[in-house]
Amino acid sequence: MKFTEHIWITKRSFQYLYSLSRAHLLCLVAGNVLQNLLPYIPIYISALLIDALYEGQPTEKLLLLVALTVGSVFLLSLAGTWMSSVLEQASNEMYRNLSWDQSEKTMKLAYASVEDPDVALLRSRIAMESQTGYNMWRLIYCTEQLSSTLTRILMSASLTLSFFFLDAIPAYMKLGLVGGIVLALVCSIFTTRKTGSLTNRFYASCVHLNLASSKYYNYMEHYGSAKDIRIYDMAEKLLAFNAEQEQTINRQEMHLNMKRAGLKTADILLNHLLRFGVYLILIYAALPGTVTVGSIARYVSCIMLLLDAAAGFLSALQMLLNNNEYLKRYFSYLDIPNPMYQGSLTVEKRDDNEYYVEFRDVSFRYPNTQVYALRHVNLKFKIGEKLAIVGRNGSGKTTFIKLMCRLYDPTEGEILLNGVNIKKYDYDEYMSIFSIVFQDFGLFAFSLGQNVAASPEYDREKAMECLVQAGFGERLSAMPEGTESYLYKDFAGSGIEISGGEGQKIAIARALYKDAPFLILDEPTAALDPVSEYEIYSKFNEIAGDKTAVYISHRLASCRFCDKIAVFDNGEIIQTGSHETLIARQDELYHELWQAQAQYYVSSENSPRI
Ligand code: ADP
Repeated sequence: MKFTEHIWITKRSFQYLYSLSRAHLLCLVAGNVLQNLLPYIPIYISALLIDALYEGQPTEKLLLLVALTVGSVFLLSLAGTWMSSVLEQASNEMYRNLSWDQSEKTMKLAYASVEDPDVALLRSRIAMESQTGYNMWRLIYCTEQLSSTLTRILMSASLTLSFFFLDAIPAYMKLGLVGGIVLALVCSIFTTRKTGSLTNRFYASCVHLNLASSKYYNYMEHYGSAKDIRIYDMAEKLLAFNAEQEQTINRQEMHLNMKRAGLKTADILLNHLLRFGVYLILIYAALPGTVTVGSIARYVSCIMLLLDAAAGFLSALQMLLNNNEYLKRYFSYLDIPNPMYQGSLTVEKRDDNEYYVEFRDVSFRYPNTQVYALRHVNLKFKIGEKLAIVGRNGSGKTTFIKLMCRLYDPTEGEILLNGVNIKKYDYDEYMSIFSIVFQDFGLFAFSLGQNVAASPEYDREKAMECLVQAGFGERLSAMPEGTESYLYKDFAGSGIEISGGEGQKIAIARALYKDAPFLILDEPTAALDPVSEYEIYSKFNEIAGDKTAVYISHRLASCRFCDKIAVFDNGEIIQTGSHETLIARQDELYHELWQAQAQYYVSSENSPRI
C-alpha cells in the first residue's frame, strides 16, 4: 500500500471512529494520556526529594514535595477513574453503532450485490477478520497504544533532556547514547515490520481455510441440520474434516510463531545491550559526584521508560499500518454503491387506479454471467389484471419478477410504470407498491403476528384475518398463544416449528397484510399439500381482490383463473393470451405443457383438475 493511501485510510478510520462515538474516541485518548502521565510525577518529584534530603533542605520544603507528589497523583488517579467509567459507557455506544452500521449497510445493499459472490466473500472475510481482532478493534487498540506511548515518550524525553547539557559527560558518551537509542529503534522497526508482513501473509493464506472451517461449525451447530446429521451419521465425518482443516492452520501458525519468536529475541537482545550501555554511562557520570543522586535516579528511570515507550510506539504504528489493509477492505464494503437509490419521483397515487406496467424490449444478464436470463421481453399489463407466468424451470419467470420489483435493473430495454422508467422513481416508494411471496421467502424467529406484519408492532385482528385468508386459520386456532406464538426456538423455548407449507401460508399472509396494489406470488403453492393448494387456487381471485396479481407457476391448472397468461421459454415470452386461446393452439408450448401435466390430475373432462 502506498504512503498516501496509508494517510488517507488512517485519516478516514479516525474520522469513522469519531463518528461512531465522539465520547469514546476522546475518552480513549485523554484517559490514556492521563494514565501515562502518572508514573512521571513521582519520578520527577522523588528526584527533587532525594536531592533536597541530600542537601539538608528544611522540613517544610520536604513536606511540600511529598504533598505535591501525593496530591497530583491523587488528582490524576481520580480523573483517570472517572474517565474510565465514561469510556466504558461510551464503548457500549461505539460497539452498538459499529454493529448497527454494518448491519444497516448489509440490509441496504442493492440486491445484485447481495447475490454477488465477490461481495459475499468480502463480507465473510471482514466478519472473520473482526472476530480475530482486526479492523476497528485493532484500530482502537492502536489508538490506545499510540496515545500511551506518545505521552511516555514526550515525558521521558523532556525529563532526560538536561542529561545532554551536563558538562561532566563527555560528548562521545552522549553521542553513543543517542546512537544506541537510534540503533535499538531501527532494530525494532525492522523486527515489527517483518513480523507484521509474516502475520499478514499467514492470515491471507488461510482465509479460505478459516471460512470453510467456520461454515463447518455452522453446519454442526445449527439445529436445522441436527436431523440430517443424525439420520446420515455425519457427525464423525464432519468432525474429521474440520479437524483436518484445523490441523493445517495450526501447523502454519506454529511455523509463524517460531519465526516471530526468533525476531523478538533479536530485538530484546539488542534492547538489553543498550540498557547495559546506559547504566555504564550513568554510573560513569555519577562517579565524580558532579551529577546529583536524584538526577541519576531520574535519568535511569526515564531513559528505560523512553526505550520501552519508543519500542511500543513503533510497534503500535506498524500495527496501525498493517491494519490499514484490513480497514481498506472494511471501507470498500461500506462504500459499495447502491445505484438503485438514484430516482426521486414519487409514485403517483391515482384515484382512477389506472396504473400499468410495461416491459419494453427488456433483456437481462445476471452480473458476471454471459448468458441472457431474459431476452427481448415485451409485455404490458394494467392494474387489476391477473397475469400468470408459466414455463419450465429456468425459463426466466423469477428473473422477470426480480426486474419488475427492481431487485435488478435490465441490461437492455426499459420497464415503465405509467409510461415512466421505473428507475426514475424513488426506490423505497416504488418498492412499497409490491407485495411478493418468493419461493425462497424468509421468515424470522419473531412472533407469528410480527412475521405477518413484518414489524414489531402489528394489528392483531388484521394479522389474523390475513392468516385465515392464506389458509392458516385452522393451525392458528390450535395455537394457545395465537399471533403471539414465536416461530422457531431462537428467542423462545416454546417457539413453534412449522412445515414448509405452513411457512408458505404465513408468507402469503404477510403479502396480504402489506396490502400493496401489486400482489406477486412466485410458485406460492410449491410446498403446499393438494388440499391447501386447492384452497389457495379457488380463493385466488378473492384473495387478490382488485389488486394486480402476478402469479408464477409451473402448475398450469392454477393459471386458468388469470386474465392473461405469458408463456416463458428460454428467457423469452413465446406466447400470451387467455387459457382458452392458448390451449387451442395445439402445436405450441402451452398446449404441450398442459397435456404433459394432465396425467397427474384426476380428470372428468379430459383436462387437468386439481
Ligand atoms: P425460473 O423462475 O423460470 O425457474 P429463473 O428466473 O430463476 O427461472 O432463472 C433463469 C435463469 O437465470 C436460469 O438459467 C438460472 O440459472 C439463472 N439465474 C437465476 N438466478 C441467478 C443468479 N443469481 N445468478 C446467475 N444466474 C442466475
